[in-house]
Amino acid sequence: MTATTDAYAARYFETGTLEDIPSGHFIDGAEYPSVEGGMMEIADPGLGRVFTAVSAGDAADVDRAVRSAAWAFDEWRRMPAFQRGRILGAMATKIRENRDLLAVLEVLNVGKTLAEATAKVETAARTFEYYAGVCDKLQGDSLPIGFEQIGFSMLEPVGVVAQIIPWNYPMSTFARGVAPALAAGCCVVAKPAETTPHTALIFARLLVEAGLPPGVCNVVLGEGASVGAALSAHPDVAHVTFTGSPVTGTRVMQAAADHFASVTMELGGKSPVIALADCDIAKTADGVIGAIFENAGQICSAGSRLVVERAIHADLVAAVVDRARAITVGHGLRGNRMGAINSRRQMDRILEFIDTARAGGDRILCGGEAVADPKGGDGWFVAPTVIDDLPPDSPCVQEEIFGPVLSVQVVDGPADALRAANGTRYGLMAGIYTRDVSAALAIARDLKCGQVTINDYWGGGVEVPFGGVGHSGFGREKGLVALLSYLRTKSIVARVPASLS
Ligand code: ADP
Repeated sequence: MTATTDAYAARYFETGTLEDIPSGHFIDGAEYPSVEGGMMEIADPGLGRVFTAVSAGDAADVDRAVRSAAWAFDEWRRMPAFQRGRILGAMATKIRENRDLLAVLEVLNVGKTLAEATAKVETAARTFEYYAGVCDKLQGDSLPIGFEQIGFSMLEPVGVVAQIIPWNYPMSTFARGVAPALAAGCCVVAKPAETTPHTALIFARLLVEAGLPPGVCNVVLGEGASVGAALSAHPDVAHVTFTGSPVTGTRVMQAAADHFASVTMELGGKSPVIALADCDIAKTADGVIGAIFENAGQICSAGSRLVVERAIHADLVAAVVDRARAITVGHGLRGNRMGAINSRRQMDRILEFIDTARAGGDRILCGGEAVADPKGGDGWFVAPTVIDDLPPDSPCVQEEIFGPVLSVQVVDGPADALRAANGTRYGLMAGIYTRDVSAALAIARDLKCGQVTINDYWGGGVEVPFGGVGHSGFGREKGLVALLSYLRTKSIVARVPASLS
């Protein structure tokens, strides 16, 4: 902890809340209460109790925000591109200056640890920095039609875009959607998840402080079924970037289809970590632990399946279980290695998967139960859990659990590993651990997923495109390719005389 995070934590544990945290929708550069006056309570998962409340809007607030964004679009799209870049660059600085408050609020909203939250502040800053540099480099092509026609394409922003954000990574998901949208010249209405509103509100304010004209980035708070649905159905929204569950993603696509909005879908995952027989056991175990227990496994791209060759199964699983047992679990502001589950509902869902596996006779090697914060004795926590040698049709192999549960699948050789890895309807990410890079590359080529890492599960940063195939969704975020969601090509062709008189 820094001196400031220490002070925030001390004040929070003493008073049960924090002062001066935003609570209203952020529309047209200022905070507003809901049109109908609605509010919702926000709980700290680490204590399992409410610590503050924020506005809960409905379609009227969404309409106000979209109209504000549509109005601001005219100014934003006319602003010289280099100036847009300077504002995004200034935003990166603002984020870093506000690191401690952002990190503490992310802990209290999500339940994650301070170390995880602090790392995500930097991820968000890096994301704005990355897209700051691209604003004045978005160029079209010259079109070689013929001597008497001059043709070119230009890239133009699509207009007002919606960002529907989940509760597991509020800051980095906001940044990876909003930064490229703004870089492209679009205006934004963002909707954070019900349980995690605060950092989006602070980001929206910091953007204005960084020079963003009011209305270019708005945040509306509230339930998915009201605010999220109204936002994806709003006729003036040209594109919806959605990160969340496949079921909700389908609803968002249906709503967007009614007004011909394009969509980016970042959905679930059941990503494999493949361990070939020649891998370095200790390093692979470290990688597996990071892949599944980061953010208590509440990550769409978590490495939630260990696909391990039989020859090293016993050794690798023993190393993983040793490490899992050593993980301290508890409140994110109390220096633990693993934090809380975001809601009681999600915790119950995770425990149901574990109970079903136990009832079916599956071997739970560690964890497998809810635990409390060792100091406070409360909160929503699930112990790091490893379930061994599961068959391919097990729910723990096929379904996204979204919690700290590692499902082990034993395979015979690289071809079998590939088959197992591709054996779900998801296809988001995959990790491969081996000393044989050529085998790893052959597996990477044939994996049905959006990204593959070799000997480094979380390898990569904002530069690396991210997205899924199959039920994990479509479209790509991060990298330069993310800009394509927020830009469209206009072709212009002029007839010109063959010669001048
Ligand atoms: P979860 O069930 O884990 O909360 P969701 O996919 O439902 O996951 O939530 C992801 C985001 O989608 C959240 O911001 C949520 O409020 C929003 N959301 C939920 N329902 C809808 C909906 N019908 N239309 C649009 N957004 C929604």
